[in-house]
Amino acid sequence: MASLDRCCIHTITTKPWALPEAVEKYAAAGVKGISVWQNATEGIGPRRSGELIRAAGLEIVSYVRGGFFPHTSSAGRAQAIDHNKKLLEEAAALGAPMIVLVCGASPDQSLDISRNQIREGIQAILPLAEKLNVKLAIEPLHPMYAADRSAINTLAQANDMAEFFKSDYVGVAVDVYHLWWDSELEKEIARCGANGNLFAYHVCDWKVNTIDLLNDRGLMGEGCIDLKKIRSWVEAAGFKGFCEVEIFSNTHWAKDQDIFLKEVTEAFIQHV
Ligand code: ZN
Repeated sequence: MASLDRCCIHTITTKPWALPEAVEKYAAAGVKGISVWQNATEGIGPRRSGELIRAAGLEIVSYVRGGFFPHTSSAGRAQAIDHNKKLLEEAAALGAPMIVLVCGASPDQSLDISRNQIREGIQAILPLAEKLNVKLAIEPLHPMYAADRSAINTLAQANDMAEFFKSDYVGVAVDVYHLWWDSELEKEIARCGANGNLFAYHVCDWKVNTIDLLNDRGLMGEGCIDLKKIRSWVEAAGFKGFCEVEIFSNTHWAKDQDIFLKEVTEAFIQHV
């Protein structure tokens, strides 16, 4: 039966709300999980944020987001590694079991070079992730972001990268917005499930007339993604975690967020 039992919301989805307000409203709406964006903990700190969330009865699903490893200079790459280590410490203080990696890319070098730098970056932070018991979820991004946001653009590439490490702490995040178009998707979801690497599942929708590459994601049901089919693949691959609603949208952020949250929960029950 459709319900909100597996419903998690990313704080960025209701960006106008500060964390305490988001926590209170999500819990009151019957949402069970929350993924915390770094900006949401500003002014409160990760430890206090974690206490606040647990006191409201919500489960922390992930801390968002690390990565952005590639850089043309070695100093830039070292800085990225330091930043990711700091994020891992924050995730541990928050009580998040995982951080999501938007891996990064640089338009000033080839995608191959960027991918090598991503591998080196993950290698460099993995010992700390293991020590802190925080997993790393590689999130492939739609190819429209290949120039400057991620050189990992398909689930096959993310699976290759995750499998390279042979670690329980490195896996992938499947986000329908980035991957819905891929004819290999069912096969690659099965592959990452079979390898124990399917760490996270993110939902929203792809609007046919997308007007902004970053901030015009659709609410589930507003676009053309077959969400129920992809969820069935994810669950057939053994995934038992949350379906995380992650919507960046100038249109939805401009609305009354109480109304939008109601739309999110209704859309989740109907379409996810
Ligand atoms: Zn995502």
